[in-house]
Amino acid sequence: MRAVDLIRQKRDGGALGDEAIRAFVAGVTDGSWPDYQISALLMAIVWRGMTLDEASALTDAMVRSGVRLDLSEFGGTPVDKHSTGGVGDKTSLILAPLAAACGAIVPMMSGRGLGHTGGTLDKLESIPGFRTRLSLDEMRGALKRTGCVLIGQTNEIAPADRRLYALRDVTGTVESIPLICASILSKKVAEGIGALVLDVKVGRGAFMKTEADARQLASWLAGIAERSGVRTQALLTTMESPLGRAVGNANEVIESIETLKGRGPDDLESLSVRLAARMLMLSGIARDESDAERRVRGALTSGAGLEKFRAIIEEQGGDPRVIDDYERLPAARRREPWPAPRAGAVARLDAELIGRAAVALGAGRDRADADVDPAVGIDVVAAIGTKVKAGDPVLVLSCDNPSRLAAAKALLADAVLIADEAPGAPPLVMDVIDGRDVRL
Ligand code: URA
Repeated sequence: MRAVDLIRQKRDGGALGDEAIRAFVAGVTDGSWPDYQISALLMAIVWRGMTLDEASALTDAMVRSGVRLDLSEFGGTPVDKHSTGGVGDKTSLILAPLAAACGAIVPMMSGRGLGHTGGTLDKLESIPGFRTRLSLDEMRGALKRTGCVLIGQTNEIAPADRRLYALRDVTGTVESIPLICASILSKKVAEGIGALVLDVKVGRGAFMKTEADARQLASWLAGIAERSGVRTQALLTTMESPLGRAVGNANEVIESIETLKGRGPDDLESLSVRLAARMLMLSGIARDESDAERRVRGALTSGAGLEKFRAIIEEQGGDPRVIDDYERLPAARRREPWPAPRAGAVARLDAELIGRAAVALGAGRDRADADVDPAVGIDVVAAIGTKVKAGDPVLVLSCDNPSRLAAAKALLADAVLIADEAPGAPPLVMDVIDGRDVRL
């Protein structure tokens, strides 16, 4: 099967058969297709799209480009959660220990920050000593002892995605629902899970700005995952303002620990509990939603989730004393308030602008090879709806580098809106889409 024939077929709007898709992914994995032909086919897919059958076949071929883990030795249905990316979204650090404390097996492979959104690995690595790169053997050992691992993608998992993602990043071919689905799901399916909860974000701070786009992505993700044999539901959730109060890395770890101690902000606690509860339902541990929420809330109030997080940190080489002593986490010395420009109520905290400002402080990357600074970040001190006087702090920026502070402040000029009255908060969870109901 010649590469040029497959490129022409897709260019002219045809659908690629399973064999053609397997030949493409084999050529990506073994290096026999050069970058220019892969890129040409990717661009044809962006323009012409794919059917659900093609996208499922692409996902399957990408899973088979590496190993698909067999976690049957652990019994039950291993379960994971994936978020399409948000600002201040640290739910993984809360729900993974909570779900594991309720008996779930959670082999969670996460990513780094992308654009203005944060990444679970970057947050975890702000814990001194915490290792996110474990071998597959170490991963199995950790799962056996704690029921949960929080790690990055290993070399054995979906290697085709590594090459495809790097090319998509530099050829303007990231924005394609079938390519995004195959990329995300090949890694998740290969982890050996039997159930998956997707958190598809909608709004200012999300990659999908409209509900219609987010709904389409959620349906495709859930539908393809289900076809790959993974029981899947997608929650459509609001991402207009940062989730919780902390945006950064070490400050988000502190907020996660506070939430596991029962002292977290309502929105963060509520979303973490709902997602963890879905994980228990889909993995067959809980009978229904109310049973699942009761179990998760039990793990929160008893402290079992907090103790599980302590065990995970210790297992992965981190300093578990951070749980009781936040001074052990990196922190900037300089803290600058961002004052309210007038009196009124906080009506908008633009998640995308706040996320971009946090990246400008050094909490995220402006180049793929850049390091993040775990000590910097932004804290919301006056949440939406809070009444403020002119000059009261709304945000606090933590960073010791004056030029980074200036760049972040320039981005924040339009991020905060104070009005006479704050609008009502949109519902946190807008809908739940079940992969079994998806017909595309
Ligand atoms: N995250 C991924 O892993 N892949 C994509 O294509 C987009 C987001």
